[in-house]
Amino acid sequence: EAKQAGKKTFYYFVPQLEKVALDRIDLESRLRNGIKNNEFFLMYQPKVDVSTGQVVGAEALIRWRQSDGSIATPNEFIEFAESTGLIHLVTEWVVDRVCRQIVAWNNESSHQFPIAINISPKDFTNDQFVELVAGIVHKYNIPHGQLEFEITENVFMKDTDHSRKIVRQLRALGVLISIDDFGTGFSSMSVLLDLDVDYLKIDKTFVSYARNNEKSAAIVKSIIDIARNLSVGVIAEGIEDQKDLYFVQNAGCNVAQGFYYSRPISLEDFEQYVERVNMQFSAYMG
Ligand code: C2E
Ligand code: MG
Ligand code: MG
Ligand code: MG
Repeated sequence: EAKQAGKKTFYYFVPQLEKVALDRIDLESRLRNGIKNNEFFLMYQPKVDVSTGQVVGAEALIRWRQSDGSIATPNEFIEFAESTGLIHLVTEWVVDRVCRQIVAWNNESSHQFPIAINISPKDFTNDQFVELVAGIVHKYNIPHGQLEFEITENVFMKDTDHSRKIVRQLRALGVLISIDDFGTGFSSMSVLLDLDVDYLKIDKTFVSYARNNEKSAAIVKSIIDIARNLSVGVIAEGIEDQKDLYFVQNAGCNVAQGFYYSRPISLEDFEQYVERVNMQFSAYMG
């Protein structure tokens, strides 16, 4: 009787476990091969000066082209890459690709603004991380202030001293540091106390609730005040329409990012976007 039930359970569970394990191995090798085979690419989303409409920066966001033609977004694979350690390869690829793009723009275009990369908290636990970044920054001879790293407060949850040291070393290489999703972590204020950072990015959840919710509105205004008082730049993310824009503008925020201006777009579309708004700006300035 018991043996029977046991058998039944056995029969029921094993194929599923096998499938999960297989999926992981499969995904791991597909990720490794994907990097080698150029299946990854970057989309760019402009960061815009709200008073002029000019592009003052960009965020590079990773995508993964699948063999069936579909595109995987970071939510579908970054966590997996983090849990397997493959994130280091992904980050290395992104840093290299963005630095190469910075050089290309410096040679071919008139614009010069920082390009931001999202850095995983797991990158901070990689002993070779700073060395790796230094190698790429020197290989391409990246001017100070053109490469930006967006990190979240989670980076400082464990071993704060170590993380502080890494941030100092990155800044010494000329890398700008932004705190992404600011206000959603557990240590927002201590991060500001302990670190020199260049920008705070106000998380889009605060922005999107702000116009209907007094508390969110107060939080957004306060973050902008804090940033001002500390001489740190502040960016509002997730601006989806004109009402969002008016709100953050009235609250004193000068730079915004979101679907209202542009979704993340291909390199070619991004270059056209910059050309268009910068031309409008020059025409407007006479
Ligand atoms: P994030 O850094 O906070 O990036 C913002 C995300 O919000 C992006 O999603 C972007 O497409 C989306 N977004 C931008 N404007 C708006 C808006 O107005 N409304 C709404 N609802 N969403 C908006 P995406 O590209 O899917 O990236 C999601 C997250 O994945 C990013 O959040 C970032 O944490 C991570 N990520 C993206 N690229 C990379 C990468 O190269 N490396 C690592 N480690 N993480 C990455
Ligand atoms: Mg980001
Ligand atoms: Mg964000
Ligand atoms: Mg986010």
